[in-house]
Amino acid sequence: MIVTVTMNPSIDISYPLSSLAIDTVNRTDQVTKTAGGKGLNVTRVIHDLGGDVVATGVLGGFHGAYISEELNKAGIKQAFTSIKEESRDSIAILHEGNQTEILESGPTVSSEEQTTFLETITALLQQADIVTISGSLAKGLPTDFYQKLVQAAHTEKAHVLLDTSGESLISVLEGTAKPFLIKPNLEELEALLGQRFSLSEMETLQNALSQPLFEGIEWIVVSLGKAGAIAKHQEAYYRVTIPEIKVVNPVGSGDATIAGFAYGLSQGKTSEDLLKLSMAAGIANAQEKQTGHVDPANVAAHFNNINVKKI
Ligand code: ADP
Repeated sequence: MIVTVTMNPSIDISYPLSSLAIDTVNRTDQVTKTAGGKGLNVTRVIHDLGGDVVATGVLGGFHGAYISEELNKAGIKQAFTSIKEESRDSIAILHEGNQTEILESGPTVSSEEQTTFLETITALLQQADIVTISGSLAKGLPTDFYQKLVQAAHTEKAHVLLDTSGESLISVLEGTAKPFLIKPNLEELEALLGQRFSLSEMETLQNALSQPLFEGIEWIVVSLGKAGAIAKHQEAYYRVTIPEIKVVNPVGSGDATIAGFAYGLSQGKTSEDLLKLSMAAGIANAQEKQTGHVDPANVAAHFNNINVKKI
């Protein structure tokens, strides 16, 4: 079983407008509302691929109930901790080729709610061999909260796939329990290391992954958008290149990448196939209108067109 963790889920609201008028009323009848937050995108894609997945995290208020209902409708198993404060909205206004976003910081999780969540995930981890942790922490949770989750997963011998950035990533990297995989995109890696990389100098990027900060992490996948990925597995390095595609909506492709990897791991795939499956899921997500959704037939078709080269 795969457990996905989303500590700050949201209702993702998208308003496509032909133009955005400032300081006046904008009307639309074309709204879409979906259960969002990076971890829920991962969940949906694992479910689309046919994986056995349970979503956990915290949900609160009417927004929380809506998210829970959306997961139910999709037939996705869930084990969320209820919190007092309201889960958030994330608003994207799509206008004139631009994406203007308004992102609420979301609810504060109390220390009692934290304890309840930790009890829930500890129970889930006893039945899970893979756990994905994605996105930002809700307010009220300590910076080292993900490190606590990684430790709990280690105790239960579950593999942790971690996709976060900033302080919560640094805290995990500096901790004693290491995740099985991290998946920074290029921007996140640059922010983490305070260094710029050029795609024409892959060697510099490759060298960056061998620093002591990453010691003990089995897999590092640096996703590079349409340029594919560079990956490190133990002492081996891979350059993964992907076909050129017509993009519909690339938001959530990183989450689909994590989902593809988690699903592949649950199926006992080889290193090369794990990379192919994760890239194929990322590409297939970029070809869908809905964020965090793939057509498994499309994933299978892309799988055969991905090139994995040891470097
Ligand atoms: P994130 O969403 O975390 O920023 P990326 O943008 O690197 O992650 O996307 C993750 C993966 O999804 C890429 O490695 C690639 O396989 C696929 N992908 C993303 N954007 C594109 C694109 N424009 N064309 C083709 N594949 C893409």
